[in-house]
Amino acid sequence: MRLRIGQGWDRHRLEPGLPCILGGVLFEDAPAGPVAHSDGDVAAHAVADALLGAASLGDLGRLFPDTDPAYAGADSLTLLADVAARVRAAGWRLVNADLTVICEAPRIAPRAAAMAARLAAALGVPADDVSIKATRGEGLGPEGRGEAITVQAVVLLSGEESGS
Ligand code: MG
Repeated sequence: MRLRIGQGWDRHRLEPGLPCILGGVLFEDAPAGPVAHSDGDVAAHAVADALLGAASLGDLGRLFPDTDPAYAGADSLTLLADVAARVRAAGWRLVNADLTVICEAPRIAPRAAAMAARLAAALGVPADDVSIKATRGEGLGPEGRGEAITVQAVVLLSGEESGS
């Protein structure tokens, strides 16, 4: 069996009044939401880049350019499902994904299970193969000041032995 690890990182600026969608879950109580060309789902973007990295298939910006009007307001879970399909087509199976969300608000913990379920559905894996953790910026940096939200993701892929 071949194994590949991939990491993804995404950060978006937050602006008051914008919707905040993370892992396909709308946080109605969020004081601000990500500025983005798509729906700004930072969690979906970070996982997608981790998958693409593990499979050596480029990155999200190359596949879905934010200059392309086709992706204006795009549902990032749809983009993530597309990425997962490309990774499967390349012969890889997702073992697990582990995410860390870094922000002051909204509170992630109460909705972490819902986020994991929605991301897992897009990825085509059981919900318990996706882990959502959260931490705060302790007042430091753009996340700590509530100016940005950042997500880090790590994925593990397995594939059949190539025989070479
Ligand atoms: Mg992004």
